[in-house]
Parts: sequence; structure tokens; C-alpha cells
Amino acid sequence: MSLAQKLMSRVDSYADQIVEAQRRLVAIPALGPDNGGQGEIDKALWVEKWLQEMNLRVERVDAADARVESGLRPNLIATMPGGEGPARWALSHLDVVPTGPADQWTSDPWQLRVENGKLYGRGVLDDHAGVVASLFALKALIEEGVTPPGTVGLIMVSDEETGSLYGLDHVLQQRPELIAARDLVVIPDAGEEDGLFIEVAEKSILWLKVEVTGKQVHGSTPDKGVNALYASARMMVAVHEMYERFGGEDPIFVPPTSTFEPTRKEAGVPNINTIPGKDVFYIDCRVLPDVNLDEVDAAFAQRFQEIAKEEGVAVKISHEQRLQAPPATPADAPVVQALAKAIEVVKGQPAKPGGIGGGTVAAFFRKRGLPAAVWCTWPPTPHMPDEWCDLDSLLDDTKVLALLFAGC
Ligand SMILES: [Zn+2]
Repeated sequence: MSLAQKLMSRVDSYADQIVEAQRRLVAIPALGPDNGGQGEIDKALWVEKWLQEMNLRVERVDAADARVESGLRPNLIATMPGGEGPARWALSHLDVVPTGPADQWTSDPWQLRVENGKLYGRGVLDDHAGVVASLFALKALIEEGVTPPGTVGLIMVSDEETGSLYGLDHVLQQRPELIAARDLVVIPDAGEEDGLFIEVAEKSILWLKVEVTGKQVHGSTPDKGVNALYASARMMVAVHEMYERFGGEDPIFVPPTSTFEPTRKEAGVPNINTIPGKDVFYIDCRVLPDVNLDEVDAAFAQRFQEIAKEEGVAVKISHEQRLQAPPATPADAPVVQALAKAIEVVKGQPAKPGGIGGGTVAAFFRKRGLPAAVWCTWPPTPHMPDEWCDLDSLLDDTKVLALLFAGC
């Protein structure tokens, strides 16, 4: 039997233990103070004990936070020594999001329910799937007596759901030397339902608020006022001009272009017979990472000023969100190749590296020049009532990580 086969059948033998670990983790609500909770300490202590029982070295890089009783937002770094090769890291998070209204759930969100091969409960997928898969992948290496080609490290952080200031951001600031540029960093915390998608790139996000001010008058005398809605409508139509202005393509993304869409509009005058003096709308732009957002800002400002001048209104553009994407992880980076190889062995199908339109914590690594890949089997259930993950996929993901850690 090859080492890969040994590791895979070892992981299969953990099925009951994996369900049990999920049961314990689901029963410890780890909500950050921004979500009205007492933080991640209880869950971190459970995981820390588990790691120590495996004789792994565990380091705590906690962040102080006076808003929780423990005063701490825990962050764990567990390492297993290996050869001289690049280290292999898996980053997962301990915190979860609130359940939402309890009556939306079929059963208690804080009690694991197992039905037809599926596990239900808050956090079973996001991100216990990442936590549990990393833990049991490491266990498989230890119990198979494998010496990995490089150090294997698990980083389990707090505060991923509410900004990462007390989590990954804190860890990377406190331990800037922890991860080297040649290391392999996997983030099992998003992906697609078939488990084949490796996220290597993110578009920049730019959300604009556009406030147009004219002069409100009676609907019968438009000549006495300045119609803000009309000017605003012209600006909304002009938004699509940006598709041509920033017309680059990158086939790693679906869709391959930057996107510029007017989305939300605030209510204007409540009646029909008034010329509105004020109108407010919003634009959601997802921009290819090689485009500088300063140029997009300037293009909107220039075009809207032009229209404002023609219509005699004032226009104010402000940022609701502005996140310049860090450089993408190359689709042939060592972490992507190693991950793709392991996925193909476990799933018998080729992996698909690609980009997404939103932002993930991978940005914290990528902006430091550390090529990270986000991957996991990810049905569309995170943050929803009746969050679930299926056990077979969880076992597959555990196998993928075991193979990746072992370098096979
Ligand atoms: Zn997550």
C-alpha cells in the first residue's frame, strides 16, 4: 500500500471520532463580542488540550480584548516537526456567526444533529470543517509514523467573522517570521460544493455612495427647480461606461472582467407631484486586482462631475467599502500544485484554480507576499439556519490535508 493509501484508510477509520469532535465543538458557542458573545476561549482550550494529547507543540498568540470575561481572544499555533523542506500550514478559525432566529432551525443549533450522513449545527462547516480536517489530518500523519518533508503547522484563530483584528492580523503582526515566502499556506474555509475549487485570487471591492443634490419644487414647475432624480438616473446609466474604460480580462475569474453595477437606491420623495431635490444611490464594483482603485475613483468622479455640471446639480461620492486586492497567488504556485495533486488523488478529478469576486482572509497572507490558497468542500450553507456539512466530504477534505501535509 502506498503512503497515500495508508493515510486515506487511516482517515476513514476516524469517522466516529470526527463526528464526536464536531459534537463537542458545536456545543461550545464561540461568538465574538461584536456578535454579543464571550469569545473563543472555551473552544480554544478544548482544541489546545486535544493537540497536547497528541504530543504536539502548541503556542498561544492571544490578543487582549477587555470586552470578553476572559480578557483574551485566543490564537493557537500547533506544529509538528518535519524535514528541511518548506513548511505546510493550514489556517482555520474558531469563531462562528450567530444562529439567527431559533425557529428557523430544525433542531437546536448548538447541538449536533446527524441525519443521512449530514452533520447539522452552527459552525459544522464554517469553520469546524477546516478545524476538524486539519486536526485529524495531523493525527493520521502521527499514527502512520510519517515524518513530513517540512514542518506542519496548524493556525487556529479567533475573530475571523468580525474583522480578524484579534485573530490572524494579530498573529501575523506578533509573529512576522512565522511563515516564510516558500511555505505552503492552505485556508480550508471556502470553496465550492464539489471540493475541486482552489481560490487563488480576489477582485478588489469598491462600494460607492453617490449623493446628488438639486432643488426641490412642485411637480408642475420643473423649470423653477433642479431635478436630482433625473441627474442621478443619468449617472446610474453612465456606470456601465466603466466596463469599457476598465476593459481588461483575466480568465482566472468568473466573470473574467471587472464589474460595475448600480445596486441600491434610497427612497426619494414619497409623492408623484414633487421634483426631487435629492437622490442617493450606490454602486458595487468588483475590480481586477491589477487595476489601481485610485484610477476607478478618478474615473467616476470625472464622469459624474461632467453630468452634474450639465444638469446643474451637486454630486458627492463617498466610499462604503474600499479594498484593494493584494496580488493573486500564481495558479502554478507550489501550494496550488501540491493541493491540486492531493485533491486529484482523493477525488479522482482535477482541481480548478480560480478567482472570486469577494474578499477572504487570504488577503492577510497575500499582502505580505505569502502565496495562500483557499480551498475546502463548501456547500452553500455557512451563516444559514440548518448549517450542514456532509461526513463523506469532511473525510475527503481530511485526506486531502493529510496528503498535502505528508507531501504525497
Ligand atoms: Zn469561515
